[in-house]
Amino acid sequence: MKRQRPSAPAAEAGQPLRDRRQRPWRDLRISLTDRCNFRCSYCMPRSRFGPGHRFLPQTQLLSFEEVTQVAQEALQLGVNTLRLTGGEPLLRRDLPQLVRQLAALRTPAGAAPDLALTTNGSLLTALAEPLRAAGLQRLTVSLDALDPELFGQMNAVGFPVTQVLRGLEAAQRAGFDRVKVNMVVRKGLNDHQALPMAAHFRNTGMVLRFIEFMDTGSHNSWQCDEVLPSRELRERLHAHWPLRPLEATRSGETAERWAYADGAGEVGFISSVSQAFCGDCTRARLTADGRLFTCLFGSFGHDLRPLLRGAQGGPAELRERLSAIWRMRADAYSEQREQLRATQTTTRAEMHELGG
Ligand code: SAM
Ligand code: SF4
Ligand code: SF4
Repeated sequence: MKRQRPSAPAAEAGQPLRDRRQRPWRDLRISLTDRCNFRCSYCMPRSRFGPGHRFLPQTQLLSFEEVTQVAQEALQLGVNTLRLTGGEPLLRRDLPQLVRQLAALRTPAGAAPDLALTTNGSLLTALAEPLRAAGLQRLTVSLDALDPELFGQMNAVGFPVTQVLRGLEAAQRAGFDRVKVNMVVRKGLNDHQALPMAAHFRNTGMVLRFIEFMDTGSHNSWQCDEVLPSRELRERLHAHWPLRPLEATRSGETAERWAYADGAGEVGFISSVSQAFCGDCTRARLTADGRLFTCLFGSFGHDLRPLLRGAQGGPAELRERLSAIWRMRADAYSEQREQLRATQTTTRAEMHELGG
């Protein structure tokens, strides 16, 4: 089918698309599958996602072509960062092919998108090199502990930490620069691993980032007292290795950046519970079955599949729809957490569907 060019989009016309709180749309996180080979208790607890759980059938997943269409239209509306995620995105067959397609897209100014991926690292030894060759620019690997027993317990499938560490080495060999390592900190469970993790990643060129345990989805048994506020963690680190604050590299950045004063590199703190950053939130999330969420804590996703599959129109309509969705957006869950937790009755989408 020949693609029609839609009328001049807002981003090109010099009026950046803004939501109801005047936030531009800059990032699109694309979940490629709701499946995962781990069962992290804070994301896909076994009690809820056991052998009987029904994942999306293959036919419901967006094809690479459909994902590329959404990304293409999002770029026309001001998005410049595409992040592939999941579930576990490396489980998606022929992933380098999708990366090639996305890397070939261009913004209205002719720039390539900033193309990133978040993974649990379990399959990275084999895939780091092909993904890099296909045009993936940035990599984030999740790792919650170095202690083998605790790591196996946290991923709930006994996956060996050595394999993830080998994946990180493979990523560096493949040429990924400043790989980010995300550690979700659950107070009383793995916070004692923060210092060993910091010691391990100092002087490696990799950037360790501590994430506060969040109340995503409806099944992770979140308790406020399991959140270790970033400020406390930063003080613990600072007592060992003095830190100094760094400027954000761009607005809308989720992590607060700090440098080791001795020059051993950088660490980050993602404080979505203790210090909401909704005011700068420029992110939307596409689920593997084509629903667009404008907040990580949303209960409702806008179904794009009828548009993508031709039942309701073509690319012009898709761009209009994306634009309308963003313009309507007023989300600020983290700013209103206490109040919303007390009153919300709807079930929220799960983290493995939305991709973090
Ligand atoms: N499977 C991949 C991985 O683990 O990196 C990508 C998807 S995962 C949902 C994306 C990120 O969300 C990971 O860094 C993970 O640690 C983080 N995450 C999941 N549940 C979380 C929670 N309840 N609180 C904070 N971060 C969470
Ligand atoms: Fe899987 Fe990532 Fe969720 Fe862990 S955080 S269960 S690795 S999707
Ligand atoms: Fe963005 Fe929603 Fe997170 Fe606020 S709570 S930062 S609006 S995703």
